[in-house]
Amino acid sequence: MNPVFYSEGLRFSCIGCGRCCTIPDGVVFLESEDIRNLAQYLGISEEEFLQKYTHTEGKFVVLNDFPNGECIFYRRDKGCVVYPARPRQCRTFPFWDSILSSPERWDEMAKQCPGINRGKLYSCEEIEAIRRGEKDT
Ligand code: SF4
Ligand code: SF4
Repeated sequence: MNPVFYSEGLRFSCIGCGRCCTIPDGVVFLESEDIRNLAQYLGISEEEFLQKYTHTEGKFVVLNDFPNGECIFYRRDKGCVVYPARPRQCRTFPFWDSILSSPERWDEMAKQCPGINRGKLYSCEEIEAIRRGEKDT
């Protein structure tokens, strides 16, 4: 197997700028576990959660957003209001397969996210565990 470009690890510490929660064309895909966790966190049924906070895009369930494109759970003064139950996609950023596909892709994302390449060093093993869904950032 070819060595990965992050064999020495990668740095990431979110500074809470909110950029990734407010990108107008950002999409948060939900897995069954996310739907269960979010409904439980909000104290409502999964049916109510799906009806109030989601829609479908093709075969995918995705979070709604505000008319300005910001995530339905983002508040300018508080950040993410479902943080403890935030979806897997949010919990594993930026260690997504698509971003880790090449160093160029990682550097490209670093231009958009000021938390990339700073702060906590994640080892290669930790990054792989996050990719497998066994660990969060
Ligand atoms: S863009 Fe990066 S630093 Fe800003 S909130 Fe998102 S993950 Fe954190
Ligand atoms: S669920 Fe929370 S962390 Fe995820 S995009 Fe929305 S506000 Fe951001």
